Amino acid sequence: MNRCITCQKPVNRNKAHMIIELKGKLYLACCPMCQSEFEKNPEKYIRRIEDKHSKR
Ligand SMILES: [Zn+2]
Repeated sequence: MNRCITCQKPVNRNKAHMIIELKGKLYLACCPMCQSEFEKNPEKYIRRIEDKHSKR
């Protein structure tokens, strides 16, 4: 299951509002609000996800 990059809710990729491709990875936004939130501060959300991965 994928998660919305902004609100972290589980999102079905086929039903995502938008798919964002960055650095060869795909991220999902579940709704227009999450999309605009992400676009306001993309680095914050990308860093949050990359931090999670590096801690494992
Ligand atoms: Zn969302």
